[in-house]
Amino acid sequence: MIWDRRNECLAREEIEQLQLERLQSTLNRVYRNVAFYKKRFDRLKIGPDEIQNVQNLAHFPLTMKEDLRESYPYGMFALPLREVVRIHSSSGVTGKSTVTGYTKNDLQHWSQLTARVLTAGGVTKDDVVQITFKYGLFTGAFGLHYGAELIGASVIPMSTGNTRKQALIMQDYKTTALVSTPAYALLLARYIEKEGINPQSLSLKRGLFGGEPCPESMRKEIEERLLINATDNYGVSEVMGPGVSAECEHKNGLHLYEDHFIPEIIDPQTLRVLPPGTEGELVLTTLTKEAFPLVRYRTRDITSLDYAPCACGRTLVRMKKVLGRSDDIIIIKGVKVFPSQVEAILLEVEGVEPRYQMIADRVEGMDTLELKVEVNEKVFSDEIKILQNISAEIERKLREIVGVSGKVKLVAPESLQPGEAKAAKVIDRRKK
Ligand SMILES: [Zn+2]
Repeated sequence: MIWDRRNECLAREEIEQLQLERLQSTLNRVYRNVAFYKKRFDRLKIGPDEIQNVQNLAHFPLTMKEDLRESYPYGMFALPLREVVRIHSSSGVTGKSTVTGYTKNDLQHWSQLTARVLTAGGVTKDDVVQITFKYGLFTGAFGLHYGAELIGASVIPMSTGNTRKQALIMQDYKTTALVSTPAYALLLARYIEKEGINPQSLSLKRGLFGGEPCPESMRKEIEERLLINATDNYGVSEVMGPGVSAECEHKNGLHLYEDHFIPEIIDPQTLRVLPPGTEGELVLTTLTKEAFPLVRYRTRDITSLDYAPCACGRTLVRMKKVLGRSDDIIIIKGVKVFPSQVEAILLEVEGVEPRYQMIADRVEGMDTLELKVEVNEKVFSDEIKILQNISAEIERKLREIVGVSGKVKLVAPESLQPGEAKAAKVIDRRKK
């Protein structure tokens, strides 16, 4: 099922023509209305008229999260506040938050885009959608909420936390679609199992996961435990929130909504644009946003782009599942370690949760890696011998699969990363 067949199935030339027109208009607007961009463009002696084709975008400067923080709170808005009808912010792990604004049109586009995400994940007006993202400044819940209402589904705005109540409502209200982070879906699955609730007695049919990367092994585990079909979707709080890209039923990458965003993949070190198919950092330019347009925003997420046609009929480029963040990759003795690899390993090990923290350090000139991993309640009270076996298994898998040796330290359940997604999974002490 396709929500917006006209715009999701445009011919490649039509997409590029539409992008070019919208890009010219966006660059003109930011040059006129956002002092930050005027200064940047003037310094590089580059103007909105440089754009003859979409590829010319590569000549323009990149925008970083730090730029947004320096313009806190409204410095990069392209319209006066009286035109803005909604304000969200992303807290981030460290430092000042970034603030995003939406006009009425921005909100309409946003609902349209999240309706595309939900429809691609199988949601129809017959679904009962339970949203377990936090309602508040964070973009996740409100973004998908309005898309689900636009489709005509019945929305349960549960917000985060209280797993007991989430499970109860899921049973009683006959929830068919779960909107959550993959980690929370797994937690729910484990809770349901622990309470002796038969997943077959639930009405749940699908899961729509976002907010953090969902490795294939994690998806499989959730699908098997909750007996659902799960799709991955992707968003960036500073760019809009959810509704940037989403998997279709073929699950071979996330269709990125190119009529609203131009994606580029850059080398995070040299900042050069990389050819399609190459892994690198995703950079996004917004094409329709009025209140808070962004030019070449560095998402820090590592992925690659595939322009080959998809069997679903959508012509939109597919981005690979996010492998991790460019600032989360740590290099230990020359080996790149992605958090997603560590998560995949932990999912294979009995007795531990996929909650962890990687700590890189340097001792006498040598890189060291410590991996703190939460064990589950059952194992935590077990004998030392069992805990030692678990540590040894994770250490062995790290060596064999990732190619690094690390020291594993098992910690108590719920002692790492309470609450929200995107807590610090990686600490690099060598940077100090
Ligand atoms: Zn597809």
